[in-house]
Amino acid sequence: MTTKHIFVTGGVVSSLGKGLTAAAIGWLLERMGLRVSMQKLDPYINVDPGTMSPFQHGEVYVTDDGTEADLDLGHYERFTHALIDRNSNFTTGKIYRSVIQKERRGDYLGSTVQVIPHITDEIKAAIRLGASSQPDVAITEIGGTIGDIESLPFCEAIRQFSLEVGPKDCIFIHLTLLPFLRASGEMKTKPTQQSVGKLREIGIQPDILICRTEKPMTEEMAAKISLFCNVRKEAVIEERDVDFSIYEVPVNLIKAGLHERILERLDLTPRRELDVSDWYELLETVKSPERTIEIAVAGKYVELHDAYKSIYESLHHAGIAHSSKIRLRKVAAEQVASEGAEKLLAGVDGILVPGGFGERGFEGKIATIRYAREQGIPFLGICYGMQAAVVDFARHVCGIEGATTAEYAPDAPHQVINLMEEQKKVSDLGGTMRLGAFDCTLAEGTISRACYGTEQISERHRHRFEFNNDYRDQLTSNGLVVAGVNPKLDLVEIVELPQDQHPWFVGVQFHPEYKTRPQEPHPLFRGFVGAAVARHKERDQGS
Ligand code: GLN
Repeated sequence: MTTKHIFVTGGVVSSLGKGLTAAAIGWLLERMGLRVSMQKLDPYINVDPGTMSPFQHGEVYVTDDGTEADLDLGHYERFTHALIDRNSNFTTGKIYRSVIQKERRGDYLGSTVQVIPHITDEIKAAIRLGASSQPDVAITEIGGTIGDIESLPFCEAIRQFSLEVGPKDCIFIHLTLLPFLRASGEMKTKPTQQSVGKLREIGIQPDILICRTEKPMTEEMAAKISLFCNVRKEAVIEERDVDFSIYEVPVNLIKAGLHERILERLDLTPRRELDVSDWYELLETVKSPERTIEIAVAGKYVELHDAYKSIYESLHHAGIAHSSKIRLRKVAAEQVASEGAEKLLAGVDGILVPGGFGERGFEGKIATIRYAREQGIPFLGICYGMQAAVVDFARHVCGIEGATTAEYAPDAPHQVINLMEEQKKVSDLGGTMRLGAFDCTLAEGTISRACYGTEQISERHRHRFEFNNDYRDQLTSNGLVVAGVNPKLDLVEIVELPQDQHPWFVGVQFHPEYKTRPQEPHPLFRGFVGAAVARHKERDQGS
């Protein structure tokens, strides 16, 4: 069977949840036994989001092959089983870089290099690369909002693409907004009409419209949108704001008949009957959990939810497994240093310290971890959070005064976290990140080993600095447990405290949050939340 293509565009405003909707489409196709691929085309000029501030762009998502990508790829991986790699995310910068490299090499044989056809050809090649696993359906999401100057070449490329593959093999789904005007008490279709008008101006006629709404969309509105936008009425699909969980989105789209429209338009036959009863069970737990526990996340970017998106999702998934709702207490790490841990952290059931870069907030992270360690509060440290745990242990348990990381204190005497020898020789720091999947061997009798239930694991990394093996003996002889090691490089990947000293204390050099699904929570998050639930119950009984 030839691969069918779905292009997802967005109109009216940004932040409509296009990534989530695209992922939900992938999910519902997989639920019918179809194989999908997922891809995001981003109109910004950065080659990848690796250098972009989490404050502006949210978290940087990392794939197994070490690609630093847009966070929408996280939705794709949490909702589908599509292979996500370097071909799953292209930006304007990445496309132009490749065209300019070809031009410099003389590949264009002296012709004038232009947006059409050279850039658009490169985009079409990227779309084909995204579908190289030959799935039944390749889903490509176009970032940005229709009407932006930046996204024009992408729109032009997908128009050409559809012309090349034929009408039964390619559809356009446009996500739009029906704003509700409180003053007149009605929802408006004009922005949708205009946004579809913009699409049609460049030669794209959407096949399906998904309308984000706050209130139910009436029959008359659907009819009006259908008439003005030239989209069949049954293909005007409502996507109402969800009440309690983003995991309602896919089943709501099914209720609205989206899967039938897609099958019909692409002439696809499902391989399996659609059964989502297990998903309804999951939603039931989300809706009526047995308890609510509180987890503190002490980091540098707590103001912006998207900056720790995958971490919050991981907690949510682990919570579902324990029938627990997670109340997040977002704490600015810096404040812990200035105001004291007790004031900001007292009463929580678990403490998570996420990854990060640079000096700001690092001392606050150390103070946070010291509090978790001394108070016996379940603790999960991720990347910089693990490094801070090592520094806390070195300073306050081993008595190594001034122990720190080389990251911002290159001349400090006791760098318990520093660069690997090979990395020290490279002057360009950009090239030295340990990125993507690395193996890790777990030690017998550790918390991590019990969580994973296996000896060999693979997890994704994104960092430069490492546990300094010169201090390994000193730290372990004082009680720190090295629970996981990279077998090839002999790098410490996991540190723990023994369970007779602390109920649950784990720091990992990698990023477990990139590998979690609502129905398959990450083992470490599951263990961490389990320990927090146990603490919660104990305190309940105590009070
Ligand atoms: N800044 C640390 C390093 O580069 C940790 C990075 C992270 O937390 N992702 O090693």
